[in-house]
Amino acid sequence: MNHLPRPMLIAILLLCSATARAASLPRTEVVPGGVAVFDLGIAGEYRPVARFGRNQAMVVKDDKHWRTVIGLPLDLIPGQYFFTVQNAGEDKPRQFKFSVAPKQYRTQHLSIANKNQVDPDRKTLKRIKKERAEMDAVYNHWRDAEPVALPLQQPVKGELSSSFGLRRVFNGKPRNPHSGLDIAAPSGRPVTAPAAGEIAATGHYFFNGNTVMIDHGQGLVSMMCHLSKIDVKKGDKVKRGDIIGKVGSTGRATGPHLHWSLSLNNARVNPKLFLWAPKPRADKKPPAQPETTTGKTAGGNKPAKNELNNKHPKQKNAKNKPARKKAIRQPSGRQ
Ligand SMILES: [Zn+2]
Repeated sequence: MNHLPRPMLIAILLLCSATARAASLPRTEVVPGGVAVFDLGIAGEYRPVARFGRNQAMVVKDDKHWRTVIGLPLDLIPGQYFFTVQNAGEDKPRQFKFSVAPKQYRTQHLSIANKNQVDPDRKTLKRIKKERAEMDAVYNHWRDAEPVALPLQQPVKGELSSSFGLRRVFNGKPRNPHSGLDIAAPSGRPVTAPAAGEIAATGHYFFNGNTVMIDHGQGLVSMMCHLSKIDVKKGDKVKRGDIIGKVGSTGRATGPHLHWSLSLNNARVNPKLFLWAPKPRADKKPPAQPETTTGKTAGGNKPAKNELNNKHPKQKNAKNKPARKKAIRQPSGRQ
């Protein structure tokens, strides 16, 4: 493309503001803690491999196009980032650029009676570190599977009591932001799987209490915390709506509720984006698509297959910044 600046042999992708979306895609919000969706062109036989930072990213076939669905970590600094795409038969991945906009999350102050849950002692820190490694292993695990149907099913009936992304201040001390959604519900109420998957871990964790992690495939993982009872074990297969445990207040919790974290390519994202119910496609509008800087769509109704591929074959100049800054060591907890 002659419009592109000399060294920039990468596509600059922008999200279109189209409103119609498909049932296999979440709502997009290209901000820290949000989700970006990019059109990779008309779907060929083989699913392309997309990566964001160190993690493989979800690729979904939707409306005859491959689309990558990328989770954006909450601690991502707004700015420009890259993802890569490799099609079958290509020696090298191609690199694409996109912008992450800032988002201001509100601050929430909480009082916790147990001081060790705010400033853990050394022994506890050791335990937290070990638990963190177990959870990270699940979040980083890639399981090939067909993407689950969206929208996800809310895992327990109840009001949303604390939203995703809140900046948390415990007893006057800033701690990690809220990495999930809290749903207020009485102790003992059944908690169900938001979508099909495999139980990847269960345990009693310091901050999260009794916890179940469900691997939904393609880097999408649910974590259910503070349970009073766990009804599944590692390796179990679950269907959407299967009971995995009961609501409780174990771990760092101020009362009975379910904390539900949703992770995509090891980025904790706003679960609400996946609870979104699409409208019927009566208007025949194409789903949201990215564009190149030239204004051409990268997919859509035109035979855009590999439009991205051909224009920007080089990638060596593009620094593939790690997708996230150094993780904050304080485990994401209360949750
Ligand atoms: Zn929570």
